Amino acid sequence: MDTTAAVSARMSRQRSRDTGTEIALRKALHALGLRYRVHQRPVRTVRREADVVFTRVKVAVFVDGCFWHGCPEHATWPKRNADFWRDKIEGNRRRDRDTDVRLGEQGWAVVRVWEHEDPLVAAGRVRDVVLAQRSEVD
Ligand SMILES: [Zn+2]
Repeated sequence: MDTTAAVSARMSRQRSRDTGTEIALRKALHALGLRYRVHQRPVRTVRREADVVFTRVKVAVFVDGCFWHGCPEHATWPKRNADFWRDKIEGNRRRDRDTDVRLGEQGWAVVRVWEHEDPLVAAGRVRDVVLAQRSEVD
């Protein structure tokens, strides 16, 4: 089944799962004693909003949805309107890489978390990056 309705259903499911991962990740980070801002532009002049931002140590975390960002494990490429979806998803991926480069140029470390990842494992990864950046700042 690959009707437009099926695709829409998958997208909305994906979107709410995405939010679930993000909230679980934030809870896990908080439990690790980390404090952060949410949904902010790390760099004012770069029009990209990160999901979790550690301003002082310059760490930006993005939680990427498996469908929208073309996760290598779960990417489902709809057969109907295939070109449209491929352009859309590949466009998102290009934009993600571009975001990483632009933030990197401003001294930011970017952590990307797939929505399918275990939030506790991802939180540990984020903590490691925060600690590494912290030792550079202090
Ligand atoms: Zn995935």
